[in-house]
Amino acid sequence: MPCIVCKSELVSSFITKDRKTYWQCSHCSVKFLDQAFFIDEDTEKGRYLEHHNEIGDPAYLQVFIQIIRTFDG
Ligand SMILES: [Zn+2]
Repeated sequence: MPCIVCKSELVSSFITKDRKTYWQCSHCSVKFLDQAFFIDEDTEKGRYLEHHNEIGDPAYLQVFIQIIRTFDG
């Protein structure tokens, strides 16, 4: 799988958590979730419609909290 940011092929598995594999790019250092676990486009649209992307929105904050927890330890 190429890097989702720079398209480099220099990616290696970084961590497996909750049976999901995260990859790290050796070129740009980005870490990303295996695309097999990306939610599909329709589900994503549904989620966007469910909440507003405002910092005061608890649902929006929860997205970032979840990302931080994923990579925290
Ligand atoms: Zn990269």
